[in-house]
Amino acid sequence: MDLSLLKKTLDELELPSFRYRQIVKNYYSGRYLNFDQMTDLSLDLRQKLSQTFSLLSISEETVVGDESTQKALLKLSDGQKIESVFMDYEDWLTVCVSSQVGCPLACSFCATGKMGFKRNLIAGEIVDQILYWNQKIYPKYIGRVVFMGMGEPFLNWENVLEAINIINSKDGLNIGARKISISTAGVVNKIIEFANLDIQINLAVSLHSVDQKTRESFMPIAKKYSLLELKNACNYYVGKTNRQLFFEYALMSENTSQNDAKLLVNFIKSNRLFFLNLIPLNLVDGGMTPATKKQQEFFIDYLNKFGVEYSLRRSFGQKLNAACGQLATV
Ligand code: SF4
Repeated sequence: MDLSLLKKTLDELELPSFRYRQIVKNYYSGRYLNFDQMTDLSLDLRQKLSQTFSLLSISEETVVGDESTQKALLKLSDGQKIESVFMDYEDWLTVCVSSQVGCPLACSFCATGKMGFKRNLIAGEIVDQILYWNQKIYPKYIGRVVFMGMGEPFLNWENVLEAINIINSKDGLNIGARKISISTAGVVNKIIEFANLDIQINLAVSLHSVDQKTRESFMPIAKKYSLLELKNACNYYVGKTNRQLFFEYALMSENTSQNDAKLLVNFIKSNRLFFLNLIPLNLVDGGMTPATKKQQEFFIDYLNKFGVEYSLRRSFGQKLNAACGQLATV
């Protein structure tokens, strides 16, 4: 909803300023599916608002899943489609939001990358994914947001940052900065820009290999930004913010040799604030090969032997094609 237009409309109706705050509060609460339900407003005002505004810019096409993980296919106002995933795990209800329709980076293990790039989402379309889930789970509400859905957030940074400001604002969704995470495939100049903002948002980098040629073979962006440049940017981020930096490493047959493990140990141990997240690779048509159990065990044993701390992430939503790297709408 265009809040500046809402303000203007209410001013034109000569309504007191608390009405604006009341409607915005209602809007972000997720409690209402339409203005008619806002019975704390006069009937006349509800009708006027319904004629000018809609609460969501996106509409549900399908939703699949169970109580713990759900994936929604959402239609945008121009007919393009995105996916958005709800997860109920640990202490917080989490939404994995999309920031682009498709993605230009074409990582070979990722279904979104195989779609190509259609367009950037505007801030409202990003925020509306959270509002959509808030409406669905009311009176519960989303407490954590991860930008790990479709798209590379740093390639749509202006809109993503605007969305983050709304998500984080006390007058918006009021979700703490530390409960918001951005994941990048390694857009080096934006990592530096992000570090300079000095905000509390978490940052994760999709690493997936510490061998330049191997990384290039499944992440074309590695040809533009070398591992050395990426590492320098990551060190800069940590030096500037003194915050932990998370590295995502999907376990594939192609990146779990002894040499891969050795390179990874050296990389992670080179900075005390580098932290490793291991993820089982999720199957995608025409994608990479998930590491076998034996390959995983060998790799993890090696990391243990050299004292690397890591988390081995559970993968959510594989059965729904809703897990990391599996989102696609065509
Ligand atoms: S992994 Fe991320 S950056 Fe790579 S193609 Fe998929 S959505 Fe884009």
